[in-house]
Amino acid sequence: MKTYDAIIAGGGIIGGAIAFELARHKLRVLVIDRQSPGQEASWAAAGMLSPAPDSADAIPLVPLATASLKIYPEFVSAVESASGMSAGFRPYGAIEILFGADAENNLAAMIEQHQKLGLDTEMLHVEDAAVLEPHINRGIRAAALMRSEAAVDNRAFTSAILRAAELSGVEFRANSSVEKLKLKGEGKCIGVIVAGEHISAKHVIIAAGFASSAIEGIAQYAPTIPMRGQMVALQSAQVDLHRVIRSERGYIVPRGNGRCVTGSTIENVGVEKRVTPQGISKILSAAVEMIPALEDAAIVETWCGLRPDTPDHLPSLGPTDIEGLLIATGHFRNGILLAPITAKLFAEWITSQHTNVNWEAFGPMRFAKSAARVASERRT
Ligand SMILES: Cc1cc2nc3c(=O)[nH]c(=O)nc-3n(C[C@H](O)[C@H](O)[C@H](O)COP(=O)(O)OP(=O)(O)OC[C@H]3O[C@@H](n4cnc5c(N)ncnc54)[C@H](O)[C@@H]3O)c2cc1C
Repeated sequence: MKTYDAIIAGGGIIGGAIAFELARHKLRVLVIDRQSPGQEASWAAAGMLSPAPDSADAIPLVPLATASLKIYPEFVSAVESASGMSAGFRPYGAIEILFGADAENNLAAMIEQHQKLGLDTEMLHVEDAAVLEPHINRGIRAAALMRSEAAVDNRAFTSAILRAAELSGVEFRANSSVEKLKLKGEGKCIGVIVAGEHISAKHVIIAAGFASSAIEGIAQYAPTIPMRGQMVALQSAQVDLHRVIRSERGYIVPRGNGRCVTGSTIENVGVEKRVTPQGISKILSAAVEMIPALEDAAIVETWCGLRPDTPDHLPSLGPTDIEGLLIATGHFRNGILLAPITAKLFAEWITSQHTNVNWEAFGPMRFAKSAARVASERRT
């Protein structure tokens, strides 16, 4: 019977990026996906690469996100050269714009926070914002420039990663759901069980997005839930943005040639994939507020996706107390950004059991420990 060095449950950008990285280290890898790989959250995203925290919950993620942004160009170029496909990488920065009477105070607070976190956010005069992006609303009251931020066409990039992995020797099994782990005793994972078939591997990596928690035995390490986000794609003859534009109400990510994607909503509605009039109108009104000339753009696509969220909104990354079982999920709003650093971390864990990045705050055992604490509190 064939055995693998690693089996990865889930072929989204996270599973695909880890697979590609492990194959580059000459490991035998199998990716198993319950549908066609690359069709879930990684397909639905906007592709913004922004380590700036969008809430207090995201602050602990900033160092990991910054480290991932730093290695993005080299990861993109490795994927592009291995796959022969373009990632649609746009390292042109982002502009945050602020409206309303408190705009200047809010901007000062944001810049102070970002600089403390080591981000290169700088104040941008309103007139300079209009020079950089002439279609920005002239009614803005303040603006900031994030020069080192970038964007990627996440659909193209995910496809390129999966192709790069395949051409590097990774095997794929589509339309097969990982149901259970194959365990030896209680403490060792030696593979997975798929439709009754046992497939063996030295390492099993769970990268099944929001559905990771549905795999038997995984919820204690990755209590993932789906968090819906709706999106709209626009095509404009007048507006061809260069940089990502954000406000507190939404964002616009250019794709080139007058196309942009704009979002989003954050909705806890379970596994329900549909767009709603309320969601789409909220997104469009935020986009038109930022760039009024988009009022006339064509709506070319609407869609939604399910982000893999966790109770503390941070990813679950790394080894567990079961030997051979690793978790790589819960990337919530940042999985496209975090793909390169996640892949690097997993290659380091698996090939040298040593990492150069500080990841302890994201270890899967934090959930297992709190589950144990809840159980013991219930008993006493
Ligand atoms: C609207 C929206 C906008 C976003 N914007 C951004 C952004 O701008 N920047 C950013 O960095 N991130 C963004 N994200 C977040 C990002 O998309 C996710 O964090 C990332 O795609 C997660 O990747 P993944 O590979 O873990 O999950 P997924 O892409 O969901 O892949 C998981 C895979 O696992 C498979 N699977 C599930 N269960 C099983 C099983 N039992 N067995 C086998 N396979 C299984 C699924 O079929 C799927 O292919 C956005 C997300 C959404 C929805």
